[in-house]
Amino acid sequence: MTKRIYKCLKCGRYTLKQDRCPVCGGLARVAHPPRFSPVDKYGEYRREMRRMIEKLEGEK
Ligand SMILES: [Zn+2]
Repeated sequence: MTKRIYKCLKCGRYTLKQDRCPVCGGLARVAHPPRFSPVDKYGEYRREMRRMIEKLEGEK
């Protein structure tokens, strides 16, 4: 499950699939340690999901 993470050279955004930035169309390069941004994004997303689930379960 190794995903390559690319980083836009122009705007600094991270992207998973493309070698081009989906936002500004700038060139993207492989970002070496795949640690930071996407993990944070999903972490935030998961936290939100968990909050929603807890809320739903609490209402039961
Ligand atoms: Zn960009």
